[in-house]
Amino acid sequence: MNLKDKKFTRTSHVALTSHSNQIFKDTPKIVWGESDPEKRGPIIATISEKENRNAIGSHSGSYTVYRALSIASGDFPKDHKPELDNTQGTYAVKPSPSWFDAEKIVTIDPFGADINLHFPKLLKEGYNIKPSIAVTQAHLHIPEVQAAVKAGKLKVDGKVVKEDGSVKCTKVALEPVWNLPGMAKRLNIDEGELRKILFQETGGMFPELVTRPDLKVLLPPIGSTTAYIFGNPDDLQNPEIELTCRVHDECNGSDVFGSDICTCRPYLTWGIEDAARTAQNGGVGLIVYFRKEGRALGEVTKFLVYNARKRQEGGDSAKTYFHRTECVAGVQDARFQEFMPDTLNYLGVKKIHNLHSMSNMKYDAIVAAGIEVVNRLSIPDELIPADAQVEMEAKKAAGYFTEGNIKDEEELKKVQGRDLDE
Ligand SMILES: [Zn+2]
Repeated sequence: MNLKDKKFTRTSHVALTSHSNQIFKDTPKIVWGESDPEKRGPIIATISEKENRNAIGSHSGSYTVYRALSIASGDFPKDHKPELDNTQGTYAVKPSPSWFDAEKIVTIDPFGADINLHFPKLLKEGYNIKPSIAVTQAHLHIPEVQAAVKAGKLKVDGKVVKEDGSVKCTKVALEPVWNLPGMAKRLNIDEGELRKILFQETGGMFPELVTRPDLKVLLPPIGSTTAYIFGNPDDLQNPEIELTCRVHDECNGSDVFGSDICTCRPYLTWGIEDAARTAQNGGVGLIVYFRKEGRALGEVTKFLVYNARKRQEGGDSAKTYFHRTECVAGVQDARFQEFMPDTLNYLGVKKIHNLHSMSNMKYDAIVAAGIEVVNRLSIPDELIPADAQVEMEAKKAAGYFTEGNIKDEEELKKVQGRDLDE
């Protein structure tokens, strides 16, 4: 069969899953919060057998769209079933009471890892179930952390920090699996209203949001989350063991490319250094990395704001920092930290001894999720890049957590960033 024919067979017939005649008796039920995985039921968002699907959307987060392109081009077999031999995690996250509380975790499937252990019967019967969580190991080679080793701030122990200055960790990738009733409850809005707005604001991407109220779970096409654990992952669940944690929202320009307009990469690398140090001292470290670029407004909006900040009358100043974002984007921040603690609850975190963050939204969300926070740490002054002073001082003046001084209106005007053409 040539490529053209393949394309024809794929697109010749479209079954709309929004019709009520698409409700099948073979579809496994989902009872969110149920502790027995078989009774809770697997999340089936694979496309191969539509009569087994019990969720809206598809696996792989934002990559679901690339998979569709790959299938369209003829490269990817549409009915592929994953061969999962040897894919089991290098560590199995231990169940904690949060897993069995329908309201504590609403954006992750706690049974999403090691599905062969949770759903052996259904897998044997041929159900195409796919994991939404995977766990592996890594050695991180990070120049700032290696510099800390050279400076004697972090020691080589051969376990957490290796001879070459790399840091060993366990990492957990988590795809979004949204239980809509639980999310609506946490946002304090009606489930129907949430479903309608999600449908409308994505240009009508998932009609089932409005036509299939029986389907309660959505796998949205958004970025995933990765947790990096330093030390013994079991220790995350023991509140007696010191935990150093940073919950970090993606900033590609700084995190990866080292742009100096913000403090994101210094915050991240300092967090990794301190997480590793805590692990060496008998504690455990945790960095959770969320794909919420540019306060979840995206890079295009973010770059527009940078330009507007630097071109405004009087130049880029701490005084107008938040105002400029709101003018361009409509809000100062679209990250909704309300759901961030789900990852912490999935990992069984009960107490954070050292929280690396100056964000009150993050702190408030963590505490509201029932997790105790002992110390809050803002970034040391010497790690703040010159052009990022504007962001830092604006945040402090807006009430973000700091151990340092807070500038008044006049002083804020004097905190100026670099000009656009410099
Ligand atoms: Zn940044």
